[in-house]
Amino acid sequence: MNGTVYLIGSGPGGLGMMTIRAREVLDAADVILYDQLPGAEVIASLPKTAECIDVGKYGSSHTLEQDDIEDLMVAYAKKGLHVVRLKGGDSFLFGRGGEEMETMRAHDIPVEVVPGVTSAIAVPECVGIPVTHRKWASQVTILTGHEDPTKEESALNWHWLAQTTGTIVILMGVKNLPKISEALVAGGMKPEKPVAIIERGLRPDQRVTCAPLDKIAEVAADAGVKPPAVVVIGEVATLYRDGSEGRMHITGE
Ligand code: SAH
Repeated sequence: MNGTVYLIGSGPGGLGMMTIRAREVLDAADVILYDQLPGAEVIASLPKTAECIDVGKYGSSHTLEQDDIEDLMVAYAKKGLHVVRLKGGDSFLFGRGGEEMETMRAHDIPVEVVPGVTSAIAVPECVGIPVTHRKWASQVTILTGHEDPTKEESALNWHWLAQTTGTIVILMGVKNLPKISEALVAGGMKPEKPVAIIERGLRPDQRVTCAPLDKIAEVAADAGVKPPAVVVIGEVATLYRDGSEGRMHITGE
């Protein structure tokens, strides 16, 4: 009989952001396939009773391709084992959990998905930025910044995005930030639109960088902003307050 595969998101960082169901499933695992996004605290808590495989640095420190990871998941599940695929944030939101679920389905392997607290919402939140707000934003668009906006075949419509009256949250957006901010201004978004970038949200070394849209790429480059970071574009970014680092306690003015 095939074992079950559990697709788990452990949240944006720290044990406190993991759900109780994720903890239960992890603690009962035979095999855990993880990468580094869950963060040091979560990885250090993985049970000694499970075989833990870092698929980000597999074998001779090579990164496994997505197909190889799915092959491993299938192989272990076919042995009847309780297999956990552990991700940071939520496993479906830009986490390829959807593809893994489809592959397991194709092999008749039962899947349980354990939703995680996504960085797209929780990381801005932990520095006082609500992605929606009755006054400022009645919609939020979450997108990957992995796509180069200057490429013709970009799956994202930057002109359309530039017209939004809501908040834009970008994951994986650090590298392409200069092109993204340019594309949004070119598409008609006002250059002074507030932007906040939160690096390593909910981790002890969390840092926030703020600037208007037309300056943010330069300011971020000068500050040496690095992934993982969440970029928030919209009026809600002005609600940022310096929290006590990596915690949800937001200070006043
Ligand atoms: N599935 C994840 C996102 C995976 S894509 C989720 O739901 O959160 C990886 C991107 O997520 C990173 O490049 C970064 O943009 C964002 N991210 C994840 N954890 C983060 C954190 N603690 N702080 C800032 N950004 C984070």
